[in-house]
Amino acid sequence: MRRLLLLLPFLLMSCSSPQPEPEPGVRSRTFGTLSDGQEVMIYQIESPTGMVMEVTNFGGIITRLTAPNREGIFEDIVLGYDNLEDYIEETPYFGAIIGRYGNRIANGQFELDGETYTLAQNNGENHLHGGIQGFDKVLWEAEPFSMGNEYGLTLSYESPDGEEGYPGNLSVKVTYLLTADNRVIFSYQATTDKATPVNLTQHSYFNLAGPSSDSILDHELMLAADHFTPVDEGLIPTGELRPVDGTPFDFTEATPIGARIDLDDEQIVNGLGYDHNWVLSDMSSEMRLAARVHEPTSGRVMEVITEEPGIQFYSGNFLDGTLTGKYGNIYAYRSGFCLETQHFPDSPNQSTFPSTILRPGETYQTRTIYAFSTDAD
Ligand code: BGC
Repeated sequence: MRRLLLLLPFLLMSCSSPQPEPEPGVRSRTFGTLSDGQEVMIYQIESPTGMVMEVTNFGGIITRLTAPNREGIFEDIVLGYDNLEDYIEETPYFGAIIGRYGNRIANGQFELDGETYTLAQNNGENHLHGGIQGFDKVLWEAEPFSMGNEYGLTLSYESPDGEEGYPGNLSVKVTYLLTADNRVIFSYQATTDKATPVNLTQHSYFNLAGPSSDSILDHELMLAADHFTPVDEGLIPTGELRPVDGTPFDFTEATPIGARIDLDDEQIVNGLGYDHNWVLSDMSSEMRLAARVHEPTSGRVMEVITEEPGIQFYSGNFLDGTLTGKYGNIYAYRSGFCLETQHFPDSPNQSTFPSTILRPGETYQTRTIYAFSTDAD
């Protein structure tokens, strides 16, 4: 029996279908057409190790991302749709670039240099993820590139002065690079001709157990953060940086996401689970580890490395079984999680938070890495 158990991983490996040989490169195909006739593409990027990332230039959405489990089997680990129409019709920001401002700005309003700006209110009275037509719903210009045997995509967008209420013409460039060591590197860049808030991020929903799993509650999460920003019922930060110690927000040691998610805690109740910004303990703005997620059945590990001061951990509390995605999957409550690197929500109204204001002559620049491995590596 013991011998059989020892042999099991090898037996499983030989029974499963063989993985195709990697063909590193970028291949493109049509994804669909917008109502104004513009063609939307999908770019399929493959790494030398066989990881595949598919990105559409509509919203810069990552529609598919495969990663190996501990037996070397690649599976899709992101939620999303298999057709453009569904992304246009209704999406909780699956896989998209978020801008100009990741997360909420209270009452869709802020003051800057003595002027009051009014933004689109698309989340009750608040402004969320850039507004009604944020960067997740615009068509980006896409340019594939290579660096040796590694491939990526540069996405560019010119956001006009006044878009969703924001001041200034903003030129934005986002690159996605899939590396030979199973990392996705996101580099964000922006310049403006008037002072404006900017806080760009990526909104992929992950389930590291693969597409047949409908829960993320057993994933073990570590967040390198001693504090978080508590919120009111509208998910607007109160301004406090609260220690996580002794609260269900303490992920300084790896803990299953589901372990404390339903506790009767004011902040858990306000977030309907986890939907908060963690303040990274290392405030150096160097690239450093922000989060590590381990999925015990597949052995997949995802690390988030970033220059940003904060990370939004969202446990998919608004998924409620009404959306049907790829593979005919019905996206159940808490079947995907997001780890969005960012400046803190509502910073334009919170003078004690790190500033998110970009001024003419400056260049907004930030990087985040999602690094994939397994517990067998
Ligand atoms: C926010 C959630 C929001 C979700 C949109 C997350 O980044 O924190 O409150 O509902 O995005 O699907």
